[in-house]
Amino acid sequence: MATYIGIGFFVVIILLFVKFSKKANAPQPVPASNNIEDLLSKHVSFYQRLSSGQQESFSKRVSQFLSATRITPVGNVQLTDLDKVYIGASAIIPIFHFPEWQYTNLDEVLVYPGSFDEGFQQHSKDRNVLGMVGDGALNRQMILSQESLRQGYEQKNAGNTGIHEFVHLLDKSDGATDGLPEFFMPSSLKDPWLKQVHRAIAEIRQKGDDINPYAGTNEAEFLAVISEYFFTKPVLLEQHHPEIYQMLQTMFRKKDGQGK
Ligand SMILES: [Zn+2]
Repeated sequence: MATYIGIGFFVVIILLFVKFSKKANAPQPVPASNNIEDLLSKHVSFYQRLSSGQQESFSKRVSQFLSATRITPVGNVQLTDLDKVYIGASAIIPIFHFPEWQYTNLDEVLVYPGSFDEGFQQHSKDRNVLGMVGDGALNRQMILSQESLRQGYEQKNAGNTGIHEFVHLLDKSDGATDGLPEFFMPSSLKDPWLKQVHRAIAEIRQKGDDINPYAGTNEAEFLAVISEYFFTKPVLLEQHHPEIYQMLQTMFRKKDGQGK
């Protein structure tokens, strides 16, 4: 009898162990600091354009972000150190000139293999969502497609899904994802900014522009898309849209010539 109770107890312990070890995602180790520096200097052009003092603080903040945020691969995703560095860089680029800023509205970044639709069905027909900031049950979570995260840094055009989603998160930090990130934007900039945004959206819808047409969706998407452009191709944005460029400089506290 005692033996059966002993065996039963043992089985329960094993089942509990299996249940919890399955449920909990193994914490992803943070890459070593020298590896973060090395990967940033080889793969992230924003980082390459910084002074050496700025590079030091940038890579420190990437490391802090990765220690504080759960990065969880979904499905058959294998996360590399470079993927983690891309996520950390996407988080730090928009807030680099806000040294005190912490993402208090984010616990976890889920990384999907390809694109997914808004119901997170990876295999449905409409596979065109590349990233998303969660709401409702998915509050405090961000979802990124691994493929499109990588493309943002490897294709060298004006698009970057990682930066796009982190800018949505900044926009959301005041309670409304409305294209007006109130903690970042001086209140005097609000009206001139909206005027520019509405003019630009109208132009995009009418005749197209060098701005990704997705920016024409609404004010929040405009902010996210134009920020991708601002952080990846600042010189080009300044040439093509000088007024918008100047306002983004003010919003993101970037001084002239810094990190261009
Ligand atoms: Zn968006």
